[in-house]
Amino acid sequence: MQQAQGLIMVFTGNGKGKTTAALGMAVRARGQGLRVLVLQFIKGGQSYGELEALGALGIEIRPLGLGFVRNATPEQMEEHRAAARAALDEVRREMLSGRWDMLVLDEINYAVHFGLLEEQDVLALLAAKPPALHLVLTGRYARPAVVERADLVSEIHEVKHPFARGVPAQKGVEF
Ligand code: ATP
Ligand code: MG
Repeated sequence: MQQAQGLIMVFTGNGKGKTTAALGMAVRARGQGLRVLVLQFIKGGQSYGELEALGALGIEIRPLGLGFVRNATPEQMEEHRAAARAALDEVRREMLSGRWDMLVLDEINYAVHFGLLEEQDVLALLAAKPPALHLVLTGRYARPAVVERADLVSEIHEVKHPFARGVPAQKGVEF
């Protein structure tokens, strides 16, 4: 008999394709009847095209509204941290709710890198994962401790990107 085992999967690295890999997996999982929730840690992580398409497939996708932190004032940073704590509570609640078979935490690595979330809190989340649940984490700069804890880690390395030669974002590729 096949044993179902929930995996911790990480898509990281400086090349394009981390979020799309995670969403591809979400689509695959949905095709197998799994209940999938995508939580976005950085606003604007998903285009409206994706929201529509995933929604039609029955994949729920929800922004956590952390905002962005580059050049934030100390007060703004505090607001961001409060939002991050609320976001983590929501993730924990959903993770433990029994309503999902796969949870995608898009850009969670990036949120840690920018100091929006504590690495410790993410590790605590991983430790509390229900055994059957699949957890997918994306974003550049995955912490070594997260990589250590994961079952699957793929690092997408940039070889070329059209932005480097000034080609603007293309519909269906970037949004
Ligand atoms: P995608 O959502 O297309 O799978 P990603 O999740 O791997 O991309 P992120 O780090 O989340 O990439 O960055 C999102 C945005 O940054 C996208 O517009 C993407 O094209 C762009 N980007 C990703 N990698 C590179 C790169 N190596 N050079 C320039 N822009 C990049
Ligand atoms: Mg991404």
